[in-house]
Amino acid sequence: MIEPGQTIGILGGGQLGRMTALAASALGYRCHVYCPEKNSPAKQVTAYATTAEYDNKLALGRFAKSVDVITFEFENVPGDTAEFLAERKPVRPGPNALRTAQDRLKEKDFLQSIGAATAPYCAVATEAELRAGMSALGPRAILKTVRMGYDGKGQLRLQPESDLGAAWREFGTSPGILEGFVEFACELSVIVARGENGKLATYAPVETQHTQGILDTTLTPSRVPGDIAMRAEAIARHVAEKLDLIGLVAVEMFVTHRGEVLVNEIAPRPHNSGHWTIDACYTNQFEQLVRAICGLPLGSPERHSDAVMKNLIGADIAKWRDVLNDPMQKLHLYGKDEALPGRKMGHVTKLSQRR
Ligand code: AMP
Repeated sequence: MIEPGQTIGILGGGQLGRMTALAASALGYRCHVYCPEKNSPAKQVTAYATTAEYDNKLALGRFAKSVDVITFEFENVPGDTAEFLAERKPVRPGPNALRTAQDRLKEKDFLQSIGAATAPYCAVATEAELRAGMSALGPRAILKTVRMGYDGKGQLRLQPESDLGAAWREFGTSPGILEGFVEFACELSVIVARGENGKLATYAPVETQHTQGILDTTLTPSRVPGDIAMRAEAIARHVAEKLDLIGLVAVEMFVTHRGEVLVNEIAPRPHNSGHWTIDACYTNQFEQLVRAICGLPLGSPERHSDAVMKNLIGADIAKWRDVLNDPMQKLHLYGKDEALPGRKMGHVTKLSQRR
């Protein structure tokens, strides 16, 4: 067990790291943030920080010596970095879960192998493969980069009339994954925590609404029928068990008009779709992560309130005063300097009595 007073190493310096560090400090832990950026939301709230690239072995070695357990808030930490650290200190979730989630093809193959349904997909490495894929999966499809894609980045939506030659040139030559377009009724996300002893704690499914590929709003409870919510929870628990992880996994899903539940993506870390848990649950996702990786008992994931969470993206941050004028809204800002378009600057959770 990693006890309060010991140090948690966090790879990645964004808002997820910041909120993890805040939850850890409430339990008496110290945090050491490692990321290449000098000024980062997580470094603002922690006393210990390393500024170095993820392949700097000297800095990684020193970092490992200074901490007792390591987690990541950023999915694109190289798998080799996680493995290097795992030889020195426990990395939770482990390098395997990280490698599975950061490669969309590996991720989909893993989901298929455990019997979780997904959109139809195929690998594409050439324009000819893109044409063949469109004939098989079309008429509408999405071409995504296999690696380094997030918040809808590295994605190209293709219609029957799309010029596939031009699309392939725009996409570049990196390997891609082509997914059949899912005409979904809604999207859901379920977060599951798994402790050292294999015990699970599952948060209620939330309905997620995206704008241009970026999460905009979550609604808890979701408006899907109870049997679909139960299926979504069961799928997320299955993913957590098959990944054999210690920590958190967020499972993003599509619900089709026929009531099928298809997994879109998995993220073995705290997730934007779980920010509502900070204000509406007995134990929020960040505290739950700290408990899981430190070998503490998990807390209750039950919600005491219903919640609508809205991201403040880019210029939305200017609304912070209005947000505070409503006493039932909780404001969270991430301390970022530049409100660039598409950049997550903060979020607002509006609470209401649990139905
Ligand atoms: P992703 O980065 O894969 O999570 O995609 C971001 C968002 O794009 C998703 O939350 C969906 O709203 C949409 N999207 C991604 N893949 C598909 C798909 N195969 N069919 C329909 N919509 C999709």
